[in-house]
Amino acid sequence: MSLIVKDLHAGIEGTEIVRGLSLEVPKGEVHAIMGPNGSGKSTLSKVIAGHEDYVVTSGSVTLDGVNLLELAVDERARAGVFLAFQYPADVPGVSNANFIRAALQARMPKGEELDAVAYYKELYARMDQLGMDRKFTARSVNEGFSGGEKKRNEILQMMMLDPKYCVLDETDSGLDIDALKVVAEGVNSMRSPERGFLIITHYQRLLDYIQPDHVHVLAGGKIVRSGGKELALELEERGYDFLKEEHLTTA
Ligand code: ADP
Ligand code: MG
Repeated sequence: MSLIVKDLHAGIEGTEIVRGLSLEVPKGEVHAIMGPNGSGKSTLSKVIAGHEDYVVTSGSVTLDGVNLLELAVDERARAGVFLAFQYPADVPGVSNANFIRAALQARMPKGEELDAVAYYKELYARMDQLGMDRKFTARSVNEGFSGGEKKRNEILQMMMLDPKYCVLDETDSGLDIDALKVVAEGVNSMRSPERGFLIITHYQRLLDYIQPDHVHVLAGGKIVRSGGKELALELEERGYDFLKEEHLTTA
């Protein structure tokens, strides 16, 4: 049981951004992707989630054997993949509580109704865990939220939706150290043999709090190096330029 990306080529109309990327995230493991800005990290996550701007030209993405690329965005979510965006969108006019409730309701069998009491109990427990004020239930999704509040809100959605595979795109950016710890604790509380994580980050800092099983370096749209968590520390020390040069000379 894995999220498997095989020789993926994808980009925007006319420009290839992801160039032959392969990766396997088995259930129960946390994989980190690090890489310089512009290397294709967000593009990979958006292709997995099914963002309409991105075109897949070849390769495959499967989730526990299901071809994700054939599914619509909502079907992918129902299949069990969740993406926490680098830049979460506002949803004006829809309260946070109703937004998550609708997402949960949407994947229930026809005719079944979400239990409202149980739902709010769970929502409040998760908000407490993330240190979110109750007023965020009534506010429009992400509207006027600070960067850190948006990121916590992404983790709240992720916790409530309980996905099989979680893709977090630079969830650490814009967070101060306290918020970073809260987010990391939220992720760590969700780690389980039944769930896989793909954690995209530019900085090593997040990985001090979420210990990855494997670290991959993305440069020029493909994985140029993989290793254990010590690879993140090496990158922190030596920076990305050296890797880019190494990659160019060995390509
Ligand atoms: P990362 O997340 O690693 O910083 P991205 O995947 O966001 O990288 O972007 C990779 C490259 O593709 C960048 O050069 C970026 O400008 C370009 N790119 C990504 N999305 C778009 C888009 N919608 N339109 C134009 N260029 C894009
Ligand atoms: Mg990005």
